[in-house]
Amino acid sequence: MKQSIYDLTFDQLTDWLMERGHKKFRASQVWDWLYNKRVKEFSEMHNVNKECIQLLEENFVIQTLKQEVKQESADGTIKFLFKLQDGNVIETVLMRFHYGLSVCVTTQVGCNIGCSFCASGLLKKSRDLTSGEIVEQIMNVQHALDDKGQGDRVSHIVVMGIGEPFDNYDNTMDFLRIVNSQKGLAIGARKITVSTSGLADQIYQFADEDLQVNLALSLHAPNDELRTRIMKINKAYPLDKLMPAIDYYLEKTNRRITFEYIMLRDVNDHKEEAEQLAKLLKNKRHLSYVNLIPYNPVDDHSYQRSEKEAILGFYDTLKKNGINCVIRHENGTDIDAACGQLRSKQVKKDKKRKQQKEKAAN
Ligand code: SAH
Ligand code: SF4
Repeated sequence: MKQSIYDLTFDQLTDWLMERGHKKFRASQVWDWLYNKRVKEFSEMHNVNKECIQLLEENFVIQTLKQEVKQESADGTIKFLFKLQDGNVIETVLMRFHYGLSVCVTTQVGCNIGCSFCASGLLKKSRDLTSGEIVEQIMNVQHALDDKGQGDRVSHIVVMGIGEPFDNYDNTMDFLRIVNSQKGLAIGARKITVSTSGLADQIYQFADEDLQVNLALSLHAPNDELRTRIMKINKAYPLDKLMPAIDYYLEKTNRRITFEYIMLRDVNDHKEEAEQLAKLLKNKRHLSYVNLIPYNPVDDHSYQRSEKEAILGFYDTLKKNGINCVIRHENGTDIDAACGQLRSKQVKKDKKRKQQKEKAAN
C-alpha cells in the first residue's frame, strides 16, 4: 500500500525530495499544488518536472480516503463517512458557525479509553490513523466545499472526533503542524482545538510543544469517585495527577483551557457537583472556561440528557462562583452528529448485512 502524500510535513517532504536529488523549491511547488490549488493527481502539477512527478507517483497517493456517505443537516452541518485503504470506516463532520467553518476530525479507528457514555468507546481501537489520513479528512471536506464553488474555506478544526488524540500523539502533532503551516492550509493555531480525555503525561508533553493550539479537557465530573465511574481512564490519571498537569500547561503556555462537561441526567448535574467543580477550578478560573455539553443519547448506553432546568441551574452555580461558562449549542442533531454515532450505526449495519449473507449462504 502506498503512503499518503499528506503524511509528510513540509520539512519531511523537502528532505525526501532532496535526498533523491531534487531541488529544495520542488517541495514548495508540490505543497502549493496540494494545499492551495488543491489538485487530486500528481500529473496536474504543471510546473513540476516529469521525473519528480514520476517519483511521487511511484511512492505516494493523493487520495487514500473514499467518501462512502455524506449527510447534510438542515442547519448546514455535513457528516462524512470515509473508507480507508484497509477498508476501515471513519467519520468527519463539518459545522457552520457565525465565526466560520469548523471540521471535527477522527484520530483513531475506534477508541480504547472506553468512556461509559460514548459511542466511539463501544468500538475497540483497531488502529491509529496516520497524520496523512487526518489531514485528508480536512482536504476532502475542503474539496467538497471547492466543488460548491462558493469560495468557502475550512477556518477552524476541532480534534474531537473518534479516538483519543494523545493516544496517537506523534501523528496528531504532525497533523497539527501540517494544517497550521503557512505553506499549506495555514489554519491558525488559535483556531484549532485538541480535546483529550486526560492523559496527564501527554498534557505535559503538549505544553512543551512549539504550537499555539488550544487544549480542551474532557472532565465530566468534579471528583474521583464519579469520574472513575463514567471514565475509567480516571483510574490511571486521577484528579491529583491530572490537575497538576493542567497547572503546568497553564503556567507554561498562559493560554486559556476549556473544560468539557457533558450533562448526564441525575449523574453529574446536581448543584453539589457544580459547587465541587467551581472549587476544583477556583485557582485557574482566570484561564479557564467550562463548556456544558447537552448529552447526545447513544443507543447502547443508559444515560440520558439532563433536563434544561438542571443545565441552567448548573450554569448559574458556576457563574455565581466566578467560573466562566457556556452552554454548547448543538449542531446536526438530526443526522447523528454526536461523535461516533454515525459510524457505530454503519458498523452495526455492515455486521448485520454480513450475518445475513452468511445465513443465506448456509
Ligand atoms: N477522546 C477525546 C476526543 C474525542 S471525544 C476526548 O474524549 O476528549 C470529544 C468530546 O465529545 C469529548 O468531550 C467527549 O466526552 C464528548 N462526547 C462523547 N460522546 C458524547 C455524547 N454521546 N454526547 C455528547 N458528547 C459526547
Ligand atoms: Fe474515547 Fe473520547 Fe469517546 Fe472517551 S469520549 S471513549 S476518550 S472518544
